[in-house]
Amino acid sequence: MVHASARHFQIRSYKTSIDNLSASIRACVRCAALVKCRSQAVPGAGAVPAEVAFVGLAPGRFGGDRTGVPFEGDRSGELLRRMIRDVGLRSVFITNVVRCNPRDARGRNRDPSASEIANCRGYLAAEMELARPRLVVCLGRIAWRELAGRERPFTPGAANPTIASGLRLWPMYHPGYVIRGAYSEKSYRRDFARMARIVHAGRIGTPD
Ligand code: SF4
Repeated sequence: MVHASARHFQIRSYKTSIDNLSASIRACVRCAALVKCRSQAVPGAGAVPAEVAFVGLAPGRFGGDRTGVPFEGDRSGELLRRMIRDVGLRSVFITNVVRCNPRDARGRNRDPSASEIANCRGYLAAEMELARPRLVVCLGRIAWRELAGRERPFTPGAANPTIASGLRLWPMYHPGYVIRGAYSEKSYRRDFARMARIVHAGRIGTPD
């Protein structure tokens, strides 16, 4: 879980520049297993400051790992970006809990380990500090746990944001979950519309 103190510690290291931060991420070799299998490390990208930040799990094998941009180049990214466009969000920052593609022994996407998530935690904190989003959409249970903590249940479809880690958080399914058919695109579109209505109505501000 990202704590405000960690964010403030990290931000000093990166001299408040998203370019410096992204360069540090691209050069990062903290996770030996991921350095071996990744094509590249993939920093967050988008508007800084941003109205809304989206936090996924990790760059996809056929998406960010190849293109160098989170949620770009695969079906999950296509769906996410279509939803963002369709609900009229223009100032967004998109990133992941970890910035390198985790693969299993057979080369398939896997969930990042606890130590890999911990290694990358400071980068997420620094990105949020720099992007200063009014709302952070956590795409999937792992992103939610990382920012909201395990004690808060992951409940997509909630009516109001949750405040934790100094951020306003909004739980939503990962687009890959929809691509796999576990949740309907119609329902996903409804969830996006609800979230965007709150953003557009100005019902959220900077957390205290
Ligand atoms: S996942 Fe994060 S901490 Fe690990 S090597 Fe990649 S950028 Fe570094």
